[in-house]
Amino acid sequence: MNKSVFTGNFTQQEPIPEVAIEAAVAVMRSGRLHRYNTAPGEAGETALLEKDFAAYTGAKYCLAVASGGYAIGAALRAVGVGPGDKVLTNGFTLAPVPGAIAAVNAVPVFVEVTESLVIDLDDLAAKIESSGARVLLLSHMRGHLCDMDRCMEICDATGVAVIEDCAHTMGGAWRGVPSGRHGLVACYSTQTYKHINSGEGGLLISDDDEVMAKAVMLSGSYMLYGKNGAAPPVDTFEKVKYVTPNVSGRMDNLRAAILRPQLADLPAQIERWNTLYRTVEEGLRNTPGLQVIERPEEEDIVGSSIQFLLPGASPEAVQSVVAACGARGVELKWFGAAEPVAFTSRYDSWRYAPAQSLPKTDRILAGLLDMRLPLTFSVADAALLAEIIRDEVMTGLPQAAE
Ligand SMILES: *Cc1c(COP(=O)(O)O)cnc(C)c1O
Repeated sequence: MNKSVFTGNFTQQEPIPEVAIEAAVAVMRSGRLHRYNTAPGEAGETALLEKDFAAYTGAKYCLAVASGGYAIGAALRAVGVGPGDKVLTNGFTLAPVPGAIAAVNAVPVFVEVTESLVIDLDDLAAKIESSGARVLLLSHMRGHLCDMDRCMEICDATGVAVIEDCAHTMGGAWRGVPSGRHGLVACYSTQTYKHINSGEGGLLISDDDEVMAKAVMLSGSYMLYGKNGAAPPVDTFEKVKYVTPNVSGRMDNLRAAILRPQLADLPAQIERWNTLYRTVEEGLRNTPGLQVIERPEEEDIVGSSIQFLLPGASPEAVQSVVAACGARGVELKWFGAAEPVAFTSRYDSWRYAPAQSLPKTDRILAGLLDMRLPLTFSVADAALLAEIIRDEVMTGLPQAAE
């Protein structure tokens, strides 16, 4: 029997919508690409995007910046993290997260993750106590939200400020509260592989006047902050404007122009992502040796990627499943690999951070596989992907099937 092969491209996103292309062309025709270069009476696309995103999330304030990593760095500085300070963060995340902590010369303290791929709240409570850290950079890695109510209870009770990394949860929610609306600040990315695409870009939201005024100054607003789209009242800036350095990282009108129509489409895109996700999930369920990550009822997901576990499989077995799927066109990423590959790396490869031991996370990452679901895939594609993975896991892990 001929084995089916998948021929789709896992890094191919959809084209930019025509209305967004037209908006971008209009900005280019105007020549006014810098966010503060506006004609009399004109708000500018960047300020309008800030208004739109504040309205979308329900936040009081929003700032558009150059990247998601920049947003995290600005958030850390704005909440007062300085050299030598410890910052708690997930043991399972992507490199820009510990990187942003290192960029302000602070020290990452990694917290274990659970089999649901979220931060382990018991370990968080223990590490708040043992480290004395006053800030948690909570990464909603691959779109998985922890019990946000309990997380905030723990952090509020101990005076720990929460910065949310929502790079994978733009459009998601916990018990109806949009992801990014629990902590003091939240950061989003509009990089090509996230939920809205401007190549590079980031957004930061908060309800806190002073934190947001500092973030706006940091982003490089000079003394033009009055032109921002969703910034705190101008008198808030009196306190911060002389003492907050300009660390330029603004968004420009061209990127904002292509993001605004995509943000308007996001709810419909989320429906499409979740149809793909549920199709793969259903196809993988009840595969011997494979554990689907059950999503809590409280969570509104954005299924732009899917993860599953091969619990207890040897590194060789995991590697052979990845290779066999790869040979049939199915690109899986293994978070347990000893060496960092492409976008994927493990906490112990971030050697600028002090060496730390996370046995539970090690055990989970050893069997963790990840697959992107770009919207250029059809539902039939999603079904085929699941079929191929199921087939190769059952062939590659025969002991599990017994
Ligand atoms: C992409 C990403 C970021 C950073 O976003 P950039 O826009 O690439 O700087 C932060 N955290 C996570 C989990 C990400 O995937």
